[in-house]
Amino acid sequence: MTYIVTDACVKCKLMDCVEVCPVDCFYEGENFLVIHPDECIDCGVCEPECPVDAIKPDSQDEPDGKWLKVNTEFSKTWPNIVVKGTPPADADSFRDEKGKFEKYFSTEPGRGD
Ligand code: SF4
Ligand code: SF4
Repeated sequence: MTYIVTDACVKCKLMDCVEVCPVDCFYEGENFLVIHPDECIDCGVCEPECPVDAIKPDSQDEPDGKWLKVNTEFSKTWPNIVVKGTPPADADSFRDEKGKFEKYFSTEPGRGD
């Protein structure tokens, strides 16, 4: 089992989650973060840190395993992130929007740290 990052993180990227992870398994895209499923030790510490409830156990994934696939694929190539950066200036305006992945998700890597 692992934890996964889901739709609410897109364009939000507040990064409260990254500093609490004991095994530093968050990876940064241009407008999304992912968890590396093979590195996550399933401790659950990050879940309550996310202000938009984007982090969930994979038992709450969609039936087709969509979010596990996204987290698995992009954690292989995006850079590691362990220090909270500056959230996007417009993050609040996208906070409650649904279906952001389909509309805005970028496959480009973030800067990492
Ligand atoms: S705290 Fe939540 S919204 Fe922010 S980067 Fe982490 S998972 Fe994404
Ligand atoms: S569940 Fe624990 S190990 Fe997995 S990403 Fe969250 S803080 Fe890191």
